Amino acid sequence: MTGATSPLRSAASRVWWMVAVLSLAALAMLGRLPAPRVDGPWAAVAAVTLALGFYLADAYPLHIEGRIDTFTVSVSELPFVLGLLFCPPDLVVAARCAGGAAALVIKRHQRIDKLAFNLALQVFDTALGATVFVAIPSAGSKTLLGAGSAAAVGVLASSIVAMLAVSLVIRIHSGRWDATMTHNVVEMNLLSLVPNVCAALLIAEAIWQSHLVVLPAIVVGVAMAAAYHSYIDLHRRHDNLRMVHEFVRSVDGSATSESRIRHLLERTRDVLRSGSAEVVLLAEDGSGSVSRRRVGADGWLQSESAPSPADDWPITMVASTAKPFLAARGSKDPSVASFLAWRGWRDCLVVPMLGEGRTMGVLVVADRNSDVTTFTDEDARLLTTVAAQVSSVVENGQLVDRLTHDSSHDALTGLANRTTYQDRLAAALAMPGGEPLAVLLMDLDRFKEVNDTLGHHHGDLLIREVAGRLRDAAPSAATVARLGGDEFAILLPGTDHDAARTAAQRMWDAVARPCSLDGVDLDVEASIGIAVAPEHGDDGAALLKRADMAMYAAKRAHARIEFYDADRDEYSPRRLALAGHVRAAVENGEMQLHYQPQIDVRTGALVAVEALSRWNHPEYGNVAPDEFISLAEQSGAITTLTHWALESAVLQLAKWREAGYEIEVAVNVSMRNLIDSAMCSHVEELVRSHQLNPGGLILEVTESQVMADPERTLPILNRLAALGVTLSIDDFGTGYSSLGYLKQLPVTEIKIDRSFIAGIAEDQQDVAIVRAIVELARSLGMRIVAEGVENQPTVARLTALGCDRLQGYLLSAPLPADELTAWIDDHQAEHAPPPRLVGSRHLAAVSVHS
Ligand code: C2E
Ligand code: CA
Ligand code: CA
Repeated sequence: MTGATSPLRSAASRVWWMVAVLSLAALAMLGRLPAPRVDGPWAAVAAVTLALGFYLADAYPLHIEGRIDTFTVSVSELPFVLGLLFCPPDLVVAARCAGGAAALVIKRHQRIDKLAFNLALQVFDTALGATVFVAIPSAGSKTLLGAGSAAAVGVLASSIVAMLAVSLVIRIHSGRWDATMTHNVVEMNLLSLVPNVCAALLIAEAIWQSHLVVLPAIVVGVAMAAAYHSYIDLHRRHDNLRMVHEFVRSVDGSATSESRIRHLLERTRDVLRSGSAEVVLLAEDGSGSVSRRRVGADGWLQSESAPSPADDWPITMVASTAKPFLAARGSKDPSVASFLAWRGWRDCLVVPMLGEGRTMGVLVVADRNSDVTTFTDEDARLLTTVAAQVSSVVENGQLVDRLTHDSSHDALTGLANRTTYQDRLAAALAMPGGEPLAVLLMDLDRFKEVNDTLGHHHGDLLIREVAGRLRDAAPSAATVARLGGDEFAILLPGTDHDAARTAAQRMWDAVARPCSLDGVDLDVEASIGIAVAPEHGDDGAALLKRADMAMYAAKRAHARIEFYDADRDEYSPRRLALAGHVRAAVENGEMQLHYQPQIDVRTGALVAVEALSRWNHPEYGNVAPDEFISLAEQSGAITTLTHWALESAVLQLAKWREAGYEIEVAVNVSMRNLIDSAMCSHVEELVRSHQLNPGGLILEVTESQVMADPERTLPILNRLAALGVTLSIDDFGTGYSSLGYLKQLPVTEIKIDRSFIAGIAEDQQDVAIVRAIVELARSLGMRIVAEGVENQPTVARLTALGCDRLQGYLLSAPLPADELTAWIDDHQAEHAPPPRLVGSRHLAAVSVHS
């Protein structure tokens, strides 16, 4: 008989029809069976013994391992054959019915439809077997060949019908004829049938020979049962080992630790035949916080939390005692029952995960996949073995995670490091859709001072403090990284120009808040440079470099926050090409001096010219001095350039003097020239060799150049002044020098910056500034020059305010020497008794009233 392969699960009405048909057929056969041959107490003893036999046979089936599957077969043919040979047929049917029903209910916990079918089938095939047996004439012969063969035929018939019935039900149930299934049913039945019948016949023959043989037979039976039981035990352990082995093999070492844990939990859930599996990991810092990962009916869940809630006491208990905890289905313990109800589980099993020297967490499985069984101690042992595997995987995973974290984060601050920042920047730039993004680079001002004066301990504290503030102030989508030293970078995805400025300002404010570190109060300031994609580039390295340039520009200008500006970019191809060629341009004659006239306000006569450099680049054409002068200053070519300008201007001055024009010439001088002591001897040599009136040479310097390093520039300025050359402060009013310094400077002229002059005709504020400058200069006995004079009303205002000299487009743009000579001739004819009258053209545009 078979009990295991029946796949009946859900009851279809057709199955109930079969139950009815089988029951009716069984009743019909029972009615035709002969009356009992045994009466009284013996009949009762026989019936109970037989029923017990059927119960044991069905309740403890044999598990036979096939190549692919494990089959479970019943030895019910054994009591059946013995029953037919030694008991009345109707009694056999009754015992079969009682024993089978008891096994199905007690051991198999079968559902009502399945139970009804199996019972009806048992009654039917037993009645059929009995009917066939009694119909065979030799049935009453008490010999192996007579009664024995009749019983074998009866049992065989009953088995065949049972097999057909089961196959039929499978067909009804699944809607198709499963050939392999039928084949398996037949194969397994025949496999169990033949040995079972043979064993029964052996016992029957022995009983026929001597009734006493029953006793040793019982002893042999019990011994065999015990042996079988231990075999089953071994078998299950082997089974579990096999599962664990498969489990370990299935762990994918290359996967990320998160997906590995997920895979492990899925396997754990399957191995333990449960509805869900969960791992609860305890924080390593002992803070009691836990992180959970679970696979279950609700899918993949992941959470981090503070200590487990009190309701979750089994978790905490297992974690602290390191002993497994089993909450079986239907537990009577109220605390266990309420825990299961709280988690919404039928049953569960919790085992510790032991790591190196500590309990890392617990492994939980819940909801055994069965209507009837629950977790057992055997499962607890299996899960403990599995937990050891999970622990080692998690531990390795954590190690890997820590190593990956360490290699991608800054050890001091925990912020992302340069590599990570670059990776994220590249990833953000590669995102389709072309969203804007901003790269912010921040550098602390005077961090070196903190480090030098307070020591590295405070330096580190400050860096950590700043890191924390940046992290708090940055938007959640931002990546804040420490690139090294006191340099931080912030990546702001989806951020345009304006939003970047707002974010940068917020971060600047956060960093600039006063802080107290280990009892030392510190005021920190920072400079932030910003580059925005795609505006300033679409390549990560270029954006970082440009943000860096902007940051340095912010530092130089004390501007806090600056955006990248291509004009300032010393690395743009044009600037690189120009920077390398200033010196050669001077030597190759690509440079030329233009001269712009200055007139005396009172007489209107030309009194001086300002020499301004012009570069006619073979490739770029005319390059403005605003562009190449700063390049020359950076490359050092400014020394050559200034020497050349001085020489050319003095030479031209000498020419004009020879031609009879008594004018002064102004040459612009850079900061670098002012710290170069060779400058003085050069000027001295020029003045001497051309026998110049030194006062006729004006050197224009700006306030900021002088004030950048007064200790070095002042001695040189004093030496130049001692030579007798005129020193002029250019662009006056734009620098941030203190007026107090002005007194100490050996200057005799101030040139008011053209930004104040441009608006003087309309803007009262500009008037006030110019008036103040004029008064100041007057009080110091200095000459006042206004540059950038572009129209007549401005001339009138400046005249009224008391300026001495005027320069600007109204008079003339800077001109090459020969053109200026022509201009002078025109101008002098009109305004002053010329030193030598050359022409008589008029300049109608200028009329200066003194
Ligand atoms: P700067 O010394 O302030 O020279 C005056 C600038 O104002 C000149 O620009 C001139 O063309 C311009 N300008 C003159 N009149 C007017 C006007 O009415 N309105 C306006 N808006 N602008 C006027 P330029 O020639 O482009 O020179 C720019 C700057 O380059 C100069 O400013 C000077 O600082 C520097 N520079 C020029 N040549 C040399 C040089 O040989 N050596 C040094 N160190 N710097 C030079
Ligand atoms: Ca100038
Ligand atoms: Ca100027």
